Amino acid sequence: MSIAQNLHAIRASLPQEVSLVAVSKTKPIADLQEAYAAGQRLFGENKIQEMTEKWEHLPKDISWHMIGHVQSNKVKFMAPYVSLIHGVDRLSLLDEINKQAAKNNRIINCLLQVHIAQEETKFGFDEQELLAAFDANAFAPYSNINIAGLMGMASFTSDTTQIKTEFNQLKSHFDSLKNKPTAQVNLQILSMGMSGDYALAIACGSNMVRIGSSIFGNR
Ligand SMILES: *Cc1c(COP(=O)(O)O)cnc(C)c1O
Repeated sequence: MSIAQNLHAIRASLPQEVSLVAVSKTKPIADLQEAYAAGQRLFGENKIQEMTEKWEHLPKDISWHMIGHVQSNKVKFMAPYVSLIHGVDRLSLLDEINKQAAKNNRIINCLLQVHIAQEETKFGFDEQELLAAFDANAFAPYSNINIAGLMGMASFTSDTTQIKTEFNQLKSHFDSLKNKPTAQVNLQILSMGMSGDYALAIACGSNMVRIGSSIFGNR
């Protein structure tokens, strides 16, 4: 199947309230152009330099999502244009994002990445750090940042019960924090679900899925 066919099939299966981020990391610009021609406007990349090259070459009505681990010294390259940073996994990163956002006269939307997987290798806030940050009003100083939601990745396993438990955990944090008025926070987006588990993620309350290989083929 072509990229356009894959996109159409996936879109047809998504509930209306779920946004689709097409994860185009490692893929050539021609592939992104094909997805763009099929109407796709949200693209996800995990390397800032690669995303910036693609941004330079492609139409300016694309929303660029940084889904990977972010190194502070590279934030400046994406600050002029990035639409949503999914992978904010530490408070110190917000210092740099805020500084670069201010330089560009922008408010940058960020998601807090929460560590929900059993595996130790995944980045993200653990439950206690997350709740402590909200309790301490830790986002208040960042006037050029909007904390727009939470992001999580489930364990890489075929055990769907475990995946569901992990997604449900993130959804329950999302629900409880959503109603807590906090400066610079407006939780609307729950980003969870990839090619292998997005149906499960949506069943658990995700409203943004990040799908790569099911659209563009294996990397
Ligand atoms: C690569 C990646 C995806 C997409 O993975 P697929 O399995 O190809 O759909 C989603 N989220 C993150 C954070 C990724 O790094």
